[in-house]
Amino acid sequence: MSDLMEYQAKELFAKHGVTTTLGKVVETADEARAAAEELGGVTVIKAQVKAGGRGKAGGVKLAKTADEAFEHASNILGMEIKGLTVNRVLVTPATPPVEEYYFSFLLDRSNRSYLCIASVEGGVEIEEVAKTNPDAVKKISINALTGVDEAKATAIVDEAAFPAELRDQAIKMVQDLWKVFVEEDATLVEVNPLARLEGDKLEALDGKVSLDDNASEVRHPEHEAFEIREEADPLEAKAKDKGLNYVKLDGSVGIIGNGAGLVMSTLDVVAYAGENHGGVTPANFLDIGGGANAQVMADGLDVILNDEQVKSVFVNVFGGITACDEVANGIKGALEILGDAATKPLVVRLDGNNVDEGRRILNELNHPLVTQVDTMDGAADKAAELANA
Ligand code: GDP
Ligand code: MN
Repeated sequence: MSDLMEYQAKELFAKHGVTTTLGKVVETADEARAAAEELGGVTVIKAQVKAGGRGKAGGVKLAKTADEAFEHASNILGMEIKGLTVNRVLVTPATPPVEEYYFSFLLDRSNRSYLCIASVEGGVEIEEVAKTNPDAVKKISINALTGVDEAKATAIVDEAAFPAELRDQAIKMVQDLWKVFVEEDATLVEVNPLARLEGDKLEALDGKVSLDDNASEVRHPEHEAFEIREEADPLEAKAKDKGLNYVKLDGSVGIIGNGAGLVMSTLDVVAYAGENHGGVTPANFLDIGGGANAQVMADGLDVILNDEQVKSVFVNVFGGITACDEVANGIKGALEILGDAATKPLVVRLDGNNVDEGRRILNELNHPLVTQVDTMDGAADKAAELANA
């Protein structure tokens, strides 16, 4: 599941007819000043990070002049909100809310259905409203087969008790937000605040959308553009480019295995072995899957060896469809491809299909960096020892 930034969520809102103001996304205070000048009048400078509570954290500020926009942007850029560094701000015309409401569609996993949550006591923290005034937060379940048509949207709006002056706009907006939810394969669409502006206009002042990554890959290749690379860990970004299933962790023992289950238990075994070797822990999760050929192995090793924290690497393979001799040739080929880039000791444990031939190939290779250990516990111990050396 991937969360979008506010400005990206608003782009999807606009695409489906939800009233919102896009504004301009910038990365420097100078650009913020220029954007404010261009927009004219009072603007809002809003931190773009994938976290709520930006307002409370000082990440949303009103600017009366372009110079003020510059001031606020300089303060907000580089700020940390819930551990996330602000690299961009959104500059939008300040449309002062008269009232603030809350609205969302989400996947209700416990009931295998969809849920709408709406409240005219909206604004900042809906969790708080839910505690202090639970009756003001309406939860309306949605039939997955019939979805939200005009009649359902009307029922939602009336249940939430939107003011009469806004009823028609709200009915349309609820249907448009449902389009965002369904057509973009979202798991969450949230508007907080959904604002009543002067002149009784309804507008989404903030937006949060989480996309279903599985659907995105197949049905929405355009969603790839939402990914902001520099915010992902650079090693994870590199692994992703190579199609590897890699997650960076904090330790110093690099891990490569085939099959998610085997890799998970390898992490456990290494963490356990590490207790006898200065408390070293795994540096990553990396599942190279079934096709452990030389290129995949080289790509995996390349990512792991570029992790400065890694001191040793544990290659743990159980030969199945891809037999151990192919994996051994994969390791051999990977070391050839990497050449001098391979600098850290590798502990290799092979088992399963064609294990004897696999071990023979590595013995014959007799590479100074490679140590073979026949058992998983023994290999984990060796890898931990080398990481602690
Ligand atoms: P969050 O705190 O991360 O959810 O950020 P929001 O976008 O919800 O902003 C927090 C608060 O700032 C909102 O509740 C509004 O009161 C105010 N705010 C946000 N956007 C605007 C805007 O465009 N104009 C004005 N006047 N206020 C805004
Ligand atoms: Mn908000």
